[in-house]
Amino acid sequence: MAAPKVAVVGAGVIGLSTALCITETCPSCSVTVLADQFSPNTTSDVAAGMLIPHTYPGTPIHVQKQWFKETFTYLFAISNSAEASEAGIHLVSGWQVFKNTPKEELPFWSDVVLGFRPMSEAELQKFPQHQFGQAFTTLKCDCPSYLLWLEKRLKATGVQMYTRRVADLWDLRSEYNIVVNCAGIGARQLVGDENLFPVRGQVLKVHAPWVKNFIRDGDGLTYVYPGLPRVTLGGTREKDVWSLSPDPDTTQDIFDRCCSLEPSLQEAQDIKVKVGLRPSRQCVRLQKEVFSQGGLKLLVVHNYGHGAGGFSVHRGTAKEAARLVRECIATLHGSSLRAKL
Ligand code: FAD
Repeated sequence: MAAPKVAVVGAGVIGLSTALCITETCPSCSVTVLADQFSPNTTSDVAAGMLIPHTYPGTPIHVQKQWFKETFTYLFAISNSAEASEAGIHLVSGWQVFKNTPKEELPFWSDVVLGFRPMSEAELQKFPQHQFGQAFTTLKCDCPSYLLWLEKRLKATGVQMYTRRVADLWDLRSEYNIVVNCAGIGARQLVGDENLFPVRGQVLKVHAPWVKNFIRDGDGLTYVYPGLPRVTLGGTREKDVWSLSPDPDTTQDIFDRCCSLEPSLQEAQDIKVKVGLRPSRQCVRLQKEVFSQGGLKLLVVHNYGHGAGGFSVHRGTAKEAARLVRECIATLHGSSLRAKL
């Protein structure tokens, strides 16, 4: 059989990292990325890009931990290489603070990030409204830089990328053997998944180069995440809200909440507002499906629904999607062999 042709639909962090893992796992494939939006116009461009996992209630914790660990290990290696600045990956230390001591003092990812420990009294003095806190070092992606770095790597391995809106995955059957669905929130319409819903997030990107440590309120709603060019201030989580227009009252509210965590932000300059829709579900949809019509078949692998934690687990889920693509290729080889016999 000729080299299998794989189409990856989506060019956010999930589509690009999945395409890259497919080229690494199945080097004989010809891989094409199709998306109606590329960086800087994806949800992935809006994200803060912090590696702090969000919990998916429908996915076993050991699986989520494995995804996070694979992602952390992959990005940690990049952060220690000469690629770090182009890829926009760096270590960042800081604090997660709580007004009341949380029930679960050790999150499942505490032994994956670096140097996780309770905050000292001296550190807690910086946060007079909080009683308890955890200090650790994690990784942060400058999202647009990381997406461009992934695109560059894909082009270097011969992956084609086209701007194209896909109305129906079945339409790709005449051109591709396997289709990988990484359409983020677009999957709701593309495959009619009503379990997928948007969680709107508004963030501010500000110039405040003196802020070097991250601060995250324990509920994850208010955060200050310093990045390479800018500091991200967040945020909001608005379930089932589709609007991509920034709301000025929300901007003021985010700014006030962040200033109460880090008062020096009053001096922040050049405030830009961004909005994105987190593609949310109870669990990431990471599975194979066989589409059939009139006796014809199309092999599909789904990898979408990463909600608030796509950057934190992207490499782990991309590796699993690539493994599923390899299984699809084995199926294709099996059927072409049977056809010959
Ligand atoms: P997207 O980036 O939305 O990409 C989807 C792709 O599919 C796009 O290219 C789109 O054009 C394409 N597409 C969709 N439908 C079609 C179609 N019909 N035809 C062709 N192409 C199609 N995560 C973290 O881990 N850490 C964080 O700090 C963090 N902060 C965040 C802050 C905010 C404000 C938001 C909104 C999200 C944040 N996230 C964070 C979550 C993270 O952004 C998402 O989980 C992640 O970006 C999802 O990536 P994706 O590739 O699935 O989706």
